[in-house]
Amino acid sequence: IFAGRKNSCNINVDIISEITPFNNELTLQMQKTWQAAPVVNGQVITTELDNAKPVSAPYDRRIHVGQVLWSTPAEVTTALDSAAAFFPTWSAVPVAQRAECLDKVADLLEENLAELVALCHKEAGKTIHDSLDEVREAVDFCRYYAMQATENFSVAKNQVRFDGIAQQVTRQGQGVFVCISPWNFPLAIFLGQVAAALVAGNTVIAKPAEQTSLIAARTMELMLEAGLPKEAVHLLPGSGATVGSLLTSDERIAGVVFTGSTETAQVINRTLAKRDTNVATLIAETGGQNTMIVDSTALPEQVVRDVMRSAFASAGQRCSALRVLFVQEDVADRITTLIQGAMQELHVGLPQQHHTDVGPVIDLLAKKKLQAHIDKMRETSKVVGEVTLSDECNFGDFIAPIAFEINSIDQLENEQFGPILHIVRYKAAELNKVISEINATGFGLTMGIHSRNERSYTDIERQIRVGNCYINRDQVGAVVGVQPFGGQGLSGTGPKAGGPHYLYRFTKQVVSV
Ligand code: GLU
Repeated sequence: IFAGRKNSCNINVDIISEITPFNNELTLQMQKTWQAAPVVNGQVITTELDNAKPVSAPYDRRIHVGQVLWSTPAEVTTALDSAAAFFPTWSAVPVAQRAECLDKVADLLEENLAELVALCHKEAGKTIHDSLDEVREAVDFCRYYAMQATENFSVAKNQVRFDGIAQQVTRQGQGVFVCISPWNFPLAIFLGQVAAALVAGNTVIAKPAEQTSLIAARTMELMLEAGLPKEAVHLLPGSGATVGSLLTSDERIAGVVFTGSTETAQVINRTLAKRDTNVATLIAETGGQNTMIVDSTALPEQVVRDVMRSAFASAGQRCSALRVLFVQEDVADRITTLIQGAMQELHVGLPQQHHTDVGPVIDLLAKKKLQAHIDKMRETSKVVGEVTLSDECNFGDFIAPIAFEINSIDQLENEQFGPILHIVRYKAAELNKVISEINATGFGLTMGIHSRNERSYTDIERQIRVGNCYINRDQVGAVVGVQPFGGQGLSGTGPKAGGPHYLYRFTKQVVSV
């Protein structure tokens, strides 16, 4: 149960946007273009230059951001060979030394803040505010995992057995870890996965999302600059279907950490199961059908503020985002009217403007999927809030935030990964039915509850099966080291990223007596 607010490392978003030198530097960095290519044994492989794929900005497809070279099967093999051969060496490096590398990566992220903000903004279409948050979260992941590893894995722990004899327990890496990261947190989740796997003593092959390889490639450069051995971490941009499946079916890997759709996690799980060697570890953080329940005791103004942020911030492209809002009938008209009013105030537009609340979605495919859902919903459901797009959105992939009133959560087949809110009214006597329906979706990532009746919200919280339950606040933006994040059921395997137990799942336990 989380009541805290976002407040992590020492980059202060509100102050920094006012600092002229930073803004000047950011303007300069915005002019750049970048390139991503496979990085194997520290070598950037550019032999396939003719096949480079151009990258354009989601908010204006006329803007060229850079180009990406995808990895070939031969590069996948070389990376696997190297990572497997180097594992015994890397796992024998003292934990403090591995942790020091992560601290150095964090320092370099802070030193290169403006460039990384420019990259997150241009390649992923993030607002400046979201881009700053993203770098902040990546820094936090590095420092937090460095601290956790040093505290827990540096020395063997004494365990006294029930027969009185002492034994020593150490934690070691498992082998080669494949890190498959999403486009919605192209820096923070990409680096969070890699940092965790490395500091726990594994060697790493990272496959970033197809849409955001440039950010991953720049981060990879910083990791090598920080002193991580070139054999310990390799970068393989490419598609899930080719690079991803070659990696996950390989006998040499010990584990996969994946963030993305539930369907892809299931495919990875089946691929791992078909191998004849070790039973590999799978750490997956997947989709959700996240809900919020608002009862008649809730504070309407606070509900509206938290609904707006939970449903529409980051263009709704967070796993944690609110998709279905349940409002008790007695207050539903009032809350819906307030939401409608607040939506009128949203500015959808170019993400580099400080007054933009909602930027573009990631690409045309995402836009088409969301648009198809909106078109279908318009035929059967009432629109209760809608935003119009301005002309500045003409050249990008934008979806205007929209809210529908629906009769039941059962009307929704899939998670809609964008700024679309669905509202369901419920009668007080139907609360238990609502809880059962939410649990019946099988997803269990985030949930919000707004109520000033302690008995009521503790009762809901006790019955609901989700990973992160937020009470009387918004339900996005889990803070590293403060709100461990991750789901259950169709939403993931656990352990929670940014929490004290995360690194353990990347290790094996060795007991000596
Ligand atoms: N940790 C993020 C949050 O709390 C969501 C991560 C994701 O979308 O995968 O909003």
